[in-house]
Amino acid sequence: MHRHSRKIFASCAALVLWMVALSGAPRAQTRMPRVEFKQRTLANGLRVLSAVDKSSPTVAIQVWYKVGSKDDPDGRSGFAHLFEHMLFKSTKNMKSEMMDRLTEDVGGNNNAFTADDVTVYYEVVPSNYLETLLWAEADRMGSLNVDDPNFKSERDVVKEEFRSRVLAPPYGRLFYLLEQKSFVDVDALRVAEVILSGGESSRLYRSLVYEQQIAAQTSAVSDLREDVSLFTYLAILASEKKPEEAERALLAEIKKMQDAPVSAAELEKAKNQLVTAQLHERETNNGKALAIGDAAVLLGDPQRVNTDLARLEKVTAADVQRVMKKYMTDANRLVIYYLPESMKKPAGSPRGTNSNGATKGGE
Ligand SMILES: [Zn+2]
Repeated sequence: MHRHSRKIFASCAALVLWMVALSGAPRAQTRMPRVEFKQRTLANGLRVLSAVDKSSPTVAIQVWYKVGSKDDPDGRSGFAHLFEHMLFKSTKNMKSEMMDRLTEDVGGNNNAFTADDVTVYYEVVPSNYLETLLWAEADRMGSLNVDDPNFKSERDVVKEEFRSRVLAPPYGRLFYLLEQKSFVDVDALRVAEVILSGGESSRLYRSLVYEQQIAAQTSAVSDLREDVSLFTYLAILASEKKPEEAERALLAEIKKMQDAPVSAAELEKAKNQLVTAQLHERETNNGKALAIGDAAVLLGDPQRVNTDLARLEKVTAADVQRVMKKYMTDANRLVIYYLPESMKKPAGSPRGTNSNGATKGGE
């Protein structure tokens, strides 16, 4: 899943968690503790999900808004992200950055992220501050100061984040559109993602980075969204390498997954990685809240927090091969090359040679 954090500090923390998750690797059969939660809907329509966990003297509070980058108006991408930033500015009752005072000053933390379908705000504080933070979240929900100085300063921050995050190194990207996904397909795609790009023993890393040295970095991400989802392959080019080479190598790895089933060992390892990542996420109350939020908002049913991993166990090598064939077709593919000025070809070239230039379909 693609998550952007407002503060660098939070990104680093997430990265550390992930690395711990990969090194632990208990068996996939490890029993996932059930998350017991309650839900109710307030008179104003706000849906409240709560779970009690007394293993820590802290409370995690998350507010999920069902609005994200996919709702950005045409020609105004970044609008949802800009609003994420605006909610840290002043309100009728709070001065700017007051959320930091209410959390960091009592030993807690707070942050937010904007995804395709949602914008999420969260705080972790000693549990006796629960009501204070619920009040603060309500205050910025209802009485935010949307004024010119706040707007302009945050717009500049968001623009700079976009430049440094999205428009930095040269890369090639392959997108596959996923429509009408069944549960079984979604689970198999998640397993395929891990086999392709989960760590340094994954297929893409071994082939493109280690053996062929075409890419400095690769990834495969099943970006499963509310509407049409995407399966995205990314190769950040090694120096002197051409995006065409990376594209060819990616397509060759995709074809291997379509032509033959993955091994039992690869399948088992991928499931272990997925389960381990979930186990580690749920060790903190904020991680547990994220898991409930994902299930409730993105998957449409909070109970899935307790059922999805059992389903994942049932994915077979044949399932993985089948979804690779079903979705990774030439007609379904969109290719984007992002290149610095010095690597661009003359205008009129047939394939995506402009920065952000895109061409659809196979050769
Ligand atoms: Zn941001």
